[in-house]
Amino acid sequence: MKAQLSFTPRNSTTYGKLKAEIEVVSDYLHVGMEKGIPRVDSEKINNARKKIDNVLKDFINDRLSPGEVDQFFQPEVNWFSSENGTYFIPGNSVKGAVRSRIELSTPGSCYISTDRRTQNVSSRYISIFKPDKRIGSDNFLKEYFVNGRSICPVCNVFGNSGLASRVIFTDFKLVSGKVGIIPYNNERYEVVLKGSKFTGEILFKGLKDEEVGMVLFGMKAFDNAGKISFKEMLFGRFKFMDRKFGRVRFSIQSAVQINPLEDLKRFLEKYHPKEVNENW
Ligand SMILES: [Zn+2]
Repeated sequence: MKAQLSFTPRNSTTYGKLKAEIEVVSDYLHVGMEKGIPRVDSEKINNARKKIDNVLKDFINDRLSPGEVDQFFQPEVNWFSSENGTYFIPGNSVKGAVRSRIELSTPGSCYISTDRRTQNVSSRYISIFKPDKRIGSDNFLKEYFVNGRSICPVCNVFGNSGLASRVIFTDFKLVSGKVGIIPYNNERYEVVLKGSKFTGEILFKGLKDEEVGMVLFGMKAFDNAGKISFKEMLFGRFKFMDRKFGRVRFSIQSAVQINPLEDLKRFLEKYHPKEVNENW
């Protein structure tokens, strides 16, 4: 007879909540559009068409050389994630980044958000995070678990196929700062500039203290001599390629029904997670 499968039921009605801020600490942050749909401004396109017509007429009439024509055709912009004029970092991107850090640091975790390939990925990623390519992924529906009959502690919080997540990340919306378009690697990128701030919420559904602490650890929280603080975290495009890109820092704006520092301490005591320095 199989041993009873071990995981936390999803029927809790107690909620904790954290309002958090993400500050851009590198010069630029780029997070692409989730669905890859370009933003369309029909007036701008019509204006551009008229200009192109004039340029082509000049070219045909030999008033411009081919080289001079090229300057009018800029590469398309890689837009920052936005909807109806509001810039945001999708909640799933934040959740995936937080989860991956926990998976890489917590003994007994499987890999779901973590890339364990050691080929075709950035050598910087491998040297910083040292993913263990032998670690597999739990599959709740197929009842396959890296720990035998109990789901891994991270899947137990963040969910698995057929097992709901007990932590929910809302989208993080840009609340202050600046947006610009910069040329990079022969393309153009819409970026959010250093000092810009996004806010969002993280909801904890029936989490134990050490499980709330686990989520905070994944946000790079640490016990700064009795005060909760957050380290820089690599996030977004080009984070392994260029120091000007992809560094953010969390902070807590308010906490409801949870005690962040105590919860973090509980997690550290119970799991003794590996510390990773991302500041390359
Ligand atoms: Zn897992």
